Amino acid sequence: MDERYMRLALQLAESARGQTSPNPLVGAVVVKNGEIVGFGAHLKAGEPHAEVHALRMAGEKAEGATVYVTLEPCSHYGRTPPCADLLIEKKVKRVVVATTDPNPLVAGKGVEKLRRAGIDVTVGVLKEEADALNEMFFHYISTKTPYVTLKYAMSLDGKIATKTGESKWITSEDARRDVHRERRMHDAIVVGVGTILADDPSLTVRFGYEGKQPIRIVLDTHLRTPLHANVVTDQMAPTWIVVGHHVTEEQMKPYEHAGVQIIRMNENKIDVPTLLLELGQRNVMSIFVEGGAQVHGSFLRSRSVQQVLAYIAPTLIGGNEAPSAVGGEGFGRMIDTLRLQVKHVERIGSDIKIVAKG
Ligand code: NDP
Ligand code: ZN
Repeated sequence: MDERYMRLALQLAESARGQTSPNPLVGAVVVKNGEIVGFGAHLKAGEPHAEVHALRMAGEKAEGATVYVTLEPCSHYGRTPPCADLLIEKKVKRVVVATTDPNPLVAGKGVEKLRRAGIDVTVGVLKEEADALNEMFFHYISTKTPYVTLKYAMSLDGKIATKTGESKWITSEDARRDVHRERRMHDAIVVGVGTILADDPSLTVRFGYEGKQPIRIVLDTHLRTPLHANVVTDQMAPTWIVVGHHVTEEQMKPYEHAGVQIIRMNENKIDVPTLLLELGQRNVMSIFVEGGAQVHGSFLRSRSVQQVLAYIAPTLIGGNEAPSAVGGEGFGRMIDTLRLQVKHVERIGSDIKIVAKG
C-alpha cells in the first residue's frame, strides 16, 4: 500500500517537470483510513511546497492521517515556513518519505524533527524512483554546478554537419519535435558561437511544448555573435552571451541595449568548469548543450557531462572535413575516455534516440 500511494505522489511530482527550478520536484498524498483526502505537487519556486497543498486539501482530515511525500519535508525557513512544522501542527500520525534531501539545510533534519515530535516516519519507499526523479536537482545541490546534458543529431557515421557546414536537417521532424520536449526540461540551452554563425538558430521551445523558454547561452570569447542574430533580436527568451575578459564595455553596449546579458569571465578564454560554477551561482540548475562539435569537445575534455542525448539518423555523410558530434582535442588513451551507460533506446520516426548517463 505504501508503494501505491508513493507512486501517485511521484506522478504528481513528475507532472511539474521543467517548471520548479531551482527547486526539486516534489509530490505529496494524504491518506486517512484507506481514503485519499489530499494531494499536491510543488509547482514553482516561491510557491507552496507539495505538503502544503496536500494538507490544505485534507483540511481537518489531516489529523491522524498518513502523509506520503517524495522528498524529505523541509525543516528550515526558506521562502516558505518549514513543512515539518506544518505536519506536526496538523497532528498527522505517520509520514512516509521516499528519499532524504541532500540539501545541507535539510539533510535528515526534517525526518529528525518529525520523529522528535512523536510522528512515525518511514524512509526509503520507492527511493530509486525518487532519486531518479530529482537527479538534476541532486547534482546541482551537491556540486553547486548545473547538470549537463550534451545533445546532438548525427548521421550513422557520427557527423553533425556536412563538410560545408550544412546540418539542416539530419534527423526527421519527429526527432526534432522530441528535442523541443527535452529542451523544456532544462534551465538553459548552451551553444558555441560557431553554431550561431553557421545556423543562426533561435533555440526556443516550439512544436507545442511552449510555455517555459530556457535561457539561451552563447559561448563567444571575442563577442562575434552578429547583432542581427535571432538570439539577439527575437526577444523570445532571455539570452546570455559569455565573453572573455578582454571584451570592452563599449563592445558590450549594443548587445545589452538589445536586452542581452553579457557574462564576462576573468580570463581571456571560457573555461568550462569555471563557467559551470558561474552558472550555478546564477541559479542555473541544468543546461542542454546543443553544440557544436568544439563546445561538446570542451565539455568532454573537462569531464563535465552527466548525460548524452544522441539522435542518430540512418544517413551517411562522410568526409574528413565534416565535423563529428564531439570535436576538440579528444583523449589520447582509451583509459581516459568517458564511459557512460545506456539508459534508454527508442525509435523516433526514422531515427534512433539513445540516452546515456555517467
Ligand atoms: P561551436 O558551436 O562548437 O562553436 C565553437 C566556437 O565557440 C569556438 O570556435 C569558440 O570561438 C567558441 N567557444 C567559446 N568557448 C568555448 C569553449 N570553452 N570550447 C569550445 N568553443 C568555445 O562550433 P563548431 O564549428 O564546432 O560547430 C558548428 C557546426 O556544427 C555547424 O556546422 C553546425 O551546423 C553544426 N551543428 C550541428 C548540430 C547537430 O546536432 N547536428 C548542433 C550544433 C551545431 P571563440 O574562440 O571565438 O569564442
Ligand atoms: Zn517544504
